[in-house]
Amino acid sequence: MKYISTRGHAAKPEFCAILLGGLAPDGGLYLPEAYPRVGRAELDAWRHLSYAELAFQILTRFISDIPAADLREICVRTYNSRNYRHARRGDDATQITPLHWLEPGKLGLLALSNGPTLAFKDMAMQLLGNLFEYVLERRDETINILGATSGDTGSAAEYAMRGKARVKVFMLSPAGKMSAFQRAQMYSLTEPNIFNIAVTGMFDEAQDIVKAVFNDADFKARHRIGAVNSINWARVAAQVVYYFKGYFAATRSNDEQVAFSVPSGNFGNICAGHIARCMGLPIARLILATNENDVLDEFFRTGVYRPRAAGETRITSSPSMDISKASNFERFVFDLVGREPEKVRELWAEIDAGRAFDLSTTPWFARVSDFGFISGSSTHADRLATIKRLYEQYGVMIDPHTADGVKVAHDKAADVPSGVPIVVLETAQPAKFSATIREALVRDPEIPDDLKDLEDRPQRVEVMSPQVSAVKEFIAKRV
Ligand SMILES: *Cc1c(COP(=O)(O)O)cnc(C)c1O
Repeated sequence: MKYISTRGHAAKPEFCAILLGGLAPDGGLYLPEAYPRVGRAELDAWRHLSYAELAFQILTRFISDIPAADLREICVRTYNSRNYRHARRGDDATQITPLHWLEPGKLGLLALSNGPTLAFKDMAMQLLGNLFEYVLERRDETINILGATSGDTGSAAEYAMRGKARVKVFMLSPAGKMSAFQRAQMYSLTEPNIFNIAVTGMFDEAQDIVKAVFNDADFKARHRIGAVNSINWARVAAQVVYYFKGYFAATRSNDEQVAFSVPSGNFGNICAGHIARCMGLPIARLILATNENDVLDEFFRTGVYRPRAAGETRITSSPSMDISKASNFERFVFDLVGREPEKVRELWAEIDAGRAFDLSTTPWFARVSDFGFISGSSTHADRLATIKRLYEQYGVMIDPHTADGVKVAHDKAADVPSGVPIVVLETAQPAKFSATIREALVRDPEIPDDLKDLEDRPQRVEVMSPQVSAVKEFIAKRV
């Protein structure tokens, strides 16, 4: 399988060549040259596979430069129920992503947050950790991962890379701005290859420092600085797997269809759903759910994509969806405009200049429904009401991001063909967001047994003022 850039760069690298990198040299994002097609025979053969074996069958279609036996071993090691042990009571943890019906055959939650950090980011990041280790070993190289996090990504990256001999992680976070649970998750890690840097400022300042370091090509090359951000192709590919797993869990035969509702921010999760659908998985609708930061909902309603200025981004109670610009959206638009890189370059010239683009009067916008997409948004009040309703009606506690998905699924149910079940992707566990749970339910969320003492564990973090030079010096001393 060869990969192409959404902006048309001539080189067509294979999987391992793009695994450790970020953007293509022309600033585009990588996608497979053509999506592998999955027919009836594969669906029939895959319906009863374990998660790990299903992951292997799907990933091997995207990865032609890792021997099959090695890739299978990596999948088995990654998608092991020892890593995904935080299943809701009554759910089967060996399924890795168990489906929990609220209304059997009608509405279910696909639990993607049973991994070590209780958010769906683990599903891809755990695989990335093992793939990095494998490829670095083979090339006899090392990498120093630099990132900024407002919560879920940083902890998922650290838990995936902890203890890996050829990898060091330098993760910037805004001092005092994450939940106590999220802070404890990251800062209590004791592995010597994990470095937490709390910057006395906002997330945007931490993010700007990371960008400045990446823009220093000399420093970046000298210290082998890499990233694991949401545009990484391997993360998207890993996420394709649970759409298949969720489809099989929600149906009895491959003649049936499913709709997925996806709490969205950077468009990484739902991009994987789009790809699963292009591969031939019978997905009737992809329901994109946003919070008050509704850049993506606005596009699917109006055809106008207008990224907000950073200052316009609202801070909400589903913070992992607080984005002003959706970094994976370019992948979908590439498919929408018929895979014409010239068109993507033209559209992103507008975006990169801080403007918007409008597809409403083009034939492409009419194709949005051919791709199955519908969308909606929700508010803080909606999240509280949804969390309360599910708790009272079904005795099921959900986190605020999943609540956005449930709320929009409810609003859009009439646009889903009758008889088609809606599966909401559960992107985090309520334990991570106890303040909002208390506001909705006047009680604390349940904390998994092995994490009950998490906030009491000793913490290790370097507190720093937001200065690029200080961060560079800190890294240079430790790599
Ligand atoms: C990252 C995240 C999202 C948004 O996912 P995208 O891939 O950025 O669209 C939603 N919910 C939670 C809990 C997350 O951590």
